[in-house]
Amino acid sequence: MALDSRHHAFIQSLLARGPQPAVDCKKMFQKLFDAQPGEVEENFFDFLKVYNKHLDFFQLEIRGSTNQHDGTQYYGVVNKLASEPAKLATQYTPAQIAYFKALVEAIVQEPSGELSSIDALNLREDQTVNSQEASSSQSVSLPKLSLAQRDKVLGDLAADKWLYRTEDGGVSLGIKSFLELRSVFMNLEVPFCDVCNEAAIKAMRCQNEDCSARMHSYCAKTKFQRPEVFSF
Ligand SMILES: [Zn+2]
Ligand SMILES: [Zn+2]
Repeated sequence: MALDSRHHAFIQSLLARGPQPAVDCKKMFQKLFDAQPGEVEENFFDFLKVYNKHLDFFQLEIRGSTNQHDGTQYYGVVNKLASEPAKLATQYTPAQIAYFKALVEAIVQEPSGELSSIDALNLREDQTVNSQEASSSQSVSLPKLSLAQRDKVLGDLAADKWLYRTEDGGVSLGIKSFLELRSVFMNLEVPFCDVCNEAAIKAMRCQNEDCSARMHSYCAKTKFQRPEVFSF
């Protein structure tokens, strides 16, 4: 497959708008490439497979992931090379990034996959990070964000889809985190969903006491008739 202006249009759209729902991505693909309605699904996956081989050269990848709050599938462009903080570094200060990291660590430990806004605002965080300029053994102390500054950055991170604000003001992870923080979830030893193999952050636990298995509720629905009562 040779790349042409249609491929360029596809990735430019994802880069400019951020992660988009899978249905919209497939519509865009169908329009750009004149795919027959019955063949969109299959052609789209072939397109991604081949296109990602080209993007590999630039350390980019079009990746699919699920918004764990409603089960909606998204696609987004992920930079495979950049370390996680580097993706945030252009828009956020080191103190804001340290706060975000502390939020991620706290959220993945919550069985509900979210923090109340009060807990999020009052979260304790390690105030030292390794300075990139100094030798790795040195660390610098970061200025602590005020409550107002934390409140502001919670809003900014939600607008950028790193975080997700629930209807009652709770703080959870947004689609950008689900797409881009896979290696972070692995380092934090977040259990995987038994059905889809993605990190089980907003997920149900097996009701058997000794069993550590977890499943997203939207995955359980595809597997069980009565997803509210399940063991596996
Ligand atoms: Zn799942
Ligand atoms: Zn089980």
